[in-house]
Amino acid sequence: MKDIEFPLFKTRIDSSKKFDLTDFNQRQAYFELKAGKEIKKLREYLKENTFIAYLLGKKNSGKGTYAKMFKEVVDIDRVEHFSIGDMVREFDEVLKDKEKKKEFVSFLEKNYRGFLPLEKIIETIEKRNTKVLLPSELILSLVKKEIAEREKKALFIDGFPREMDQISYSLFFRDLIGYRDDPDVFVLIDVPEAVIDERIKYRVICPICQTSRSLKLFPTKKVEYDQKDKKFYLVCDNSDCKGTRMVAKEGDELGIGPIKKRLETDEKLIKQAFSLYGIPNVLLRNSVPVDKAEEFVDDYEITPEYSYQWDEKSGKVKTIEKPWQVLDDNGVPCYSLMPPPVVVSLIKQITKVLGI
Ligand SMILES: [Zn+2]
Repeated sequence: MKDIEFPLFKTRIDSSKKFDLTDFNQRQAYFELKAGKEIKKLREYLKENTFIAYLLGKKNSGKGTYAKMFKEVVDIDRVEHFSIGDMVREFDEVLKDKEKKKEFVSFLEKNYRGFLPLEKIIETIEKRNTKVLLPSELILSLVKKEIAEREKKALFIDGFPREMDQISYSLFFRDLIGYRDDPDVFVLIDVPEAVIDERIKYRVICPICQTSRSLKLFPTKKVEYDQKDKKFYLVCDNSDCKGTRMVAKEGDELGIGPIKKRLETDEKLIKQAFSLYGIPNVLLRNSVPVDKAEEFVDDYEITPEYSYQWDEKSGKVKTIEKPWQVLDDNGVPCYSLMPPPVVVSLIKQITKVLGI
């Protein structure tokens, strides 16, 4: 990120062991090797205690991925990933159901305090008018409700604070939801915009089963070549889809263009949280400068990129794999990391913040 230098985190260790980090079982062995001690401490801690972590990163920076992997590795029952975006999307379902809507409105009548009239808010949600932001006061009372309905667990909150005014709310949030004595922490995530841009540009989806992949970063087993369009494309792995061609969503070819404003706000939020006193920070970065990679990370922790060649003679597609390299926001050539090394850094830093 411009102006703030997130520290590099060393996950390289002296070991000849190699792991395929896309494989569930190998990933568990990897975490055991790289953060086994800290994982044990965290599991012990979570038996009696909790914490609240606010995930702050730019849109499409992989916040959810890191939190879900932390939960998967550390304690699937005692850790919860809570996404405001998912909650807001579920409103749609609620408002379509007469009974649920009645319950929802009655809850708000009792609990919502704010400047916008309730009728206006319901109207905004029903029209799915995403240009109009839901007021922070409403989001807060709903998050409180959702959390109260769950058993008390360690929380990763994704999507709050989302606007500058919500930063101040987050300072008192744990009191509001009855987590008064539990530590809270900001988890700030630095992902180069070039990484976000390419993730969007190359993502494709199966029109039948909706599975999401990437032509460049996460191909399926079968890649084919369209001789007419002179383009490579992925074939869905799901046998039910019977060789369906995966397609890009309209607008994705523009990359981060349409979300520039959002990215700017997100960057401001991160910087604001970075300068706060009283709440500890965990700083995560998903990139490592090319010239420092050997010192800080193991080869298999770097995200590979795939490109393809069409061999006319054999009629086959040849796949070429190499480390994915981008320029970070300051123009430094970097490799992008796979999620697991970032999660190792998260596990170790959270352990430190909790003082265990
Ligand atoms: Zn499919």
